[in-house]
Amino acid sequence: MEQFDVIIVGGGPAGSTLAARLPKHVKALVIDQRYLLTEERLYEREKSCGGLLDETAQKVVAQLGLSLSRNVMVEPQVFAIRALDFESQMERYYQRKYVNIDRTQFDADLLRRAAARPRVTVWQGATARGICEGPHAVSVKVRKATGESVTVYGRYLVGADGAGSMVRSYVEKKGKKHEIGRYASIQEWHPMPKPLPYYVATFHEAVTDFYSWVIPEGDQMIIGSAIPAGPDVQRRFDQFKVDLASKGFDVSTPLKRRGAIILRPRFWGSVTGGSGRIFLVGEAAGLISPSSCEGISFALRSGAGLAGALSWQAGGVAVSRMRYEKALLPLKMSIALKSLKSPIMYGKTWRALVFKSRALSISMYKNE
Ligand SMILES: Cc1cc2nc3c(=O)[nH]c(=O)nc-3n(C[C@H](O)[C@H](O)[C@H](O)COP(=O)(O)OP(=O)(O)OC[C@H]3O[C@@H](n4cnc5c(N)ncnc54)[C@H](O)[C@@H]3O)c2cc1C
Repeated sequence: MEQFDVIIVGGGPAGSTLAARLPKHVKALVIDQRYLLTEERLYEREKSCGGLLDETAQKVVAQLGLSLSRNVMVEPQVFAIRALDFESQMERYYQRKYVNIDRTQFDADLLRRAAARPRVTVWQGATARGICEGPHAVSVKVRKATGESVTVYGRYLVGADGAGSMVRSYVEKKGKKHEIGRYASIQEWHPMPKPLPYYVATFHEAVTDFYSWVIPEGDQMIIGSAIPAGPDVQRRFDQFKVDLASKGFDVSTPLKRRGAIILRPRFWGSVTGGSGRIFLVGEAAGLISPSSCEGISFALRSGAGLAGALSWQAGGVAVSRMRYEKALLPLKMSIALKSLKSPIMYGKTWRALVFKSRALSISMYKNE
C-alpha cells in the first residue's frame, strides 16, 4: 500500500508550483497524464493554450523567484493587439506587454523543479480515475503508464487537474455545487506566410459572447475561440474562420487542431478551495479570468498559496484551510473585479462606445 502526505492530481502550473514549494519533509505524489519529464514525449496530450504570459503572470513568476529559459520563449514577441469588432465593424490597436511562450516547455520546466525535490514523486502518463475520502485519509485509484491500476493513499488530496477536474466533480457531488460557466475552445494552427506583428482579438456574437483570437507562433498562427458549450460549437467556429478570411487571413489549411474546456467564473461564488481533506488549486478551483481567459497567474498563485498553508508538525503534515482561504481572497477579489469589467468588454453597445472614443488605443504609422 503506497502512502503519501499529499497526493496532487495534475502537474500543470498549479500542481507543480505547489509540489515545488512543499515543506521539505512532506512526502508527495504528483499524478499527471502527460509526459512532461520525457523529452521525446513532451508534446503528447499537449495542453491547449494560447501561451501568453500577461503582466500579472510575469509578476508572479518574478515573485516566485523563477525565470524563463530560452526554450520557453517563442518567436515572435509582439507588443500590440489588433481588436476587431464584427458588430460595429470597427477595429483598434492596443499596446500589450505579453510574453509569448511555448506552454509545454513552460509546464515541463515547472514540473522538473518539483520532481527535483527529494520527497516528491512524479508519476507521468498516469491517470487518476476514482477518489474515496475517509475520515483520516483519501484514496485515489490510478491507472499508471504501464496500464497497471493501483490505489494510493494520502492524508490530503489536491485537485490541480484543470478545467475538467474530476477532483472538483467529486467534491461537488458530495457537497455544495459552485456554478461556473463552461466554454468549449477550439484552436487550429495554420501556416503564416508573412510575419504577423500583433495578436488579434475578435468580437462577434454570432461566434461567441466571449472572444476569439489569433496568436503568431514561429511561422504559424494559432487561431482559437472560446465558445459557449453547446451543440453548435463547430458552426460558430466556422463563422469565426469566415470572419478571419474576410480580413485577409488564410485559414484554409489547418496543420493541427486541439479542443479544451475553458471555465468562466461568474463572480467569486464560482471559486471553491475544496472541502474536508480535499483542496483545489488553479482552474480546478475555478480560478481563471472571466474577462480574458488568463489562468496561468491564478494557477501559480493558488499553488504557492496552498503550499504556504501547509506545515510539518509533530512528525505529520497539517493543512490550514483558513490560511488557504486567506490566500484565495485576493484571487477571488480579482475575479470579482474582472467580472464587473466583462459587460463593458463583451456588451456590444459599451464596446462600440469604447472603440469610438479610441480610449487607450494606439495609432499606427502607415506602412510604406
Ligand atoms: C485554448 C486556451 C487558451 C488559453 N490561453 C491562455 C493564455 O494565453 N494565457 C493564460 O494565462 N491562460 C490561458 N488559458 C488558461 C490556462 O491554460 C489555464 O487556466 C491554466 O493552464 C490552469 O493551470 P492548472 O495548473 O490549474 O491546470 P492545467 O494547466 O489544465 O493542468 C492540469 C493538469 O492536470 C492533468 N490532469 C487532468 N486530469 C487528470 C487526471 N484525471 N489524472 C492525471 N492528470 C490529470 C493534465 O494532464 C494537466 O497537466 C487558456 C486556456 C485554454 C483552454
